[in-house]
Amino acid sequence: MPSTPGPAAPGSPQISVLDPENDPRASYLLSPALTTPLVARIVTSHSAGSHRSMAPFTGQPLVDLPVSSTQDVERAVDRARDAQRFWAGVPVRERAQVLLRLHDIVLTRQSEVLDLIQAESGKTRANAFEEVADVAQVTRHYGMRGPAYLAPRRVRGMLPILTQTRVNRLPVGVVGVIAPWNYPLTLALADVLPALVAGNAVVLKPDPQTTLTALWAAAALEAAGLPEDVLQIVAGGGDVGAALIDEVDHIAFTGSTATGRKIAARAGERLIGATLELGGKNPLYVAADADVEAASAGAVRACFGNTGQLCMSIERLVVHEAVADSFVASFVTKVKALTLSPAMDYSADVGSLTNAAQLERVENHVDDAIARGARILTGGVHRGDVGPLFYAPTVLDGVPPDALCAQEETFGPVVSVMVVRSDAEAVTVMNQTEFGLNASIWTRSVPRGRELARQVRAGTVNINDGYAAAWGSVEAPMGGFKASGLGRRHGREGIEEYTEAQTVAAQLGVGAGLSLDALFALPNGRGQAMLTGGLRVLKSLRAR
Ligand code: NAD
Repeated sequence: MPSTPGPAAPGSPQISVLDPENDPRASYLLSPALTTPLVARIVTSHSAGSHRSMAPFTGQPLVDLPVSSTQDVERAVDRARDAQRFWAGVPVRERAQVLLRLHDIVLTRQSEVLDLIQAESGKTRANAFEEVADVAQVTRHYGMRGPAYLAPRRVRGMLPILTQTRVNRLPVGVVGVIAPWNYPLTLALADVLPALVAGNAVVLKPDPQTTLTALWAAAALEAAGLPEDVLQIVAGGGDVGAALIDEVDHIAFTGSTATGRKIAARAGERLIGATLELGGKNPLYVAADADVEAASAGAVRACFGNTGQLCMSIERLVVHEAVADSFVASFVTKVKALTLSPAMDYSADVGSLTNAAQLERVENHVDDAIARGARILTGGVHRGDVGPLFYAPTVLDGVPPDALCAQEETFGPVVSVMVVRSDAEAVTVMNQTEFGLNASIWTRSVPRGRELARQVRAGTVNINDGYAAAWGSVEAPMGGFKASGLGRRHGREGIEEYTEAQTVAAQLGVGAGLSLDALFALPNGRGQAMLTGGLRVLKSLRAR
């Protein structure tokens, strides 16, 4: 598939448009040679109908996918359960090797998956590449560190010397993963990879819009040596996701807070664990001492990367009054210069929205803000001239607190500016929504940024960066406070999510009469007196 930009639209030199009738890039993805072997991976009996996904760049049909029925979901989980018994017996180092091989496959075959990601999601090539880089980071991390995270840990026993205690990390069994459409490769794999290293089997339900990318990832995992049936894919919408929760031993979900609440309730009924990465209304604070040029460049990436369809995207700019004029001028100038395009090469700055519901949501939020008195500093228009789902990067000023986009996640290229008079006021404003996923602070004093970060109720805080520094620190936990989620991905926490902790404590002196039973059998409270003395000694020795 060629990677040259499409022809520029007349009179609009910054814009290139795919012609679905004549451009080979638009029809490439309909090629059965590509889609048939991928679609064959879906666990389906074809009884539940099919779903037609549309290419966001063109509005043309992309692929027809069979939908899985409830029985198909049960079958997928049964197969996964059988495969898991074998997989859990494979030494952890060998399981980790699969990830290290996947690392190389994803980097080597990146152009293949970049094309698929762009075709299904409508994002720019640069944003699609973030997904490839992310999978490389996560596979390397868990491929290298997974075995150490999972190693049995020796802890102090109840009675020193006489009791020896270890903590095992055992797989939970079959993990269900429900993935969204905004990062089709990253979010199909982010939870699958640690779950597999931990010895689980996985049943993945991708979003109907981006199922091909998830199928490509499953094929790549098989090429990396993952045995058959350890990863199963079921296809369909929310009802298929709901059926999956009813069968698995743990559910991992990324998506909206509204759906997350339903999933948590269903998982609660079944008393299974739920890892939920949900929405955000993430703030970026420009402090009085910030480097304004650097802050405005960082803010552009943080607000409009992935067309704002990123859980960690910045949707609120909180600016100290001392730098408000210079920051806003610099920011708006940079936003106006952004190039919108469906180009399949690296020339576009901002891509398309992914589906019609997103466009409607974005328009609704902007219209509502304007009706309530907000002002548009730039953008605020649908760019149907570029592609059916393109929307201009939009900066709003004077958004009142009761506007939809002041509180709800817009999940699009829309940001509002708020001016504050102090750091304390900034912290109050930053914490003023129900969400707590990501935040960003720009200041020349990193220690001061760290101090402010402790007051912000968010799972990740980036200093002098928008989101990538924290997301890319794959050894550190990532997840949400408040309505932004439960549990964490990445690092030790991100793999322990997919394990059960098992404590195994052994008495070593039983044969020699040195046991808890022998101690408690001593007459007249002598055992208790000995224990009392022993407890005092342990504290004086500062035993933990
Ligand atoms: P969604 O949360 O409804 O869907 C995400 C995934 O959950 C999809 O795979 C979907 O099929 C599945 N799903 C939906 N209902 C389900 C249910 N009851 N049980 C089990 N699975 C279910 O998101 P959406 O409708 O695609 O988008 C709506 C909004 O969600 C967006 O506008 C955006 O605000 C937010 N969103 C957030 C993220 C994120 O990364 N935080 C990702 C996608 C969407």
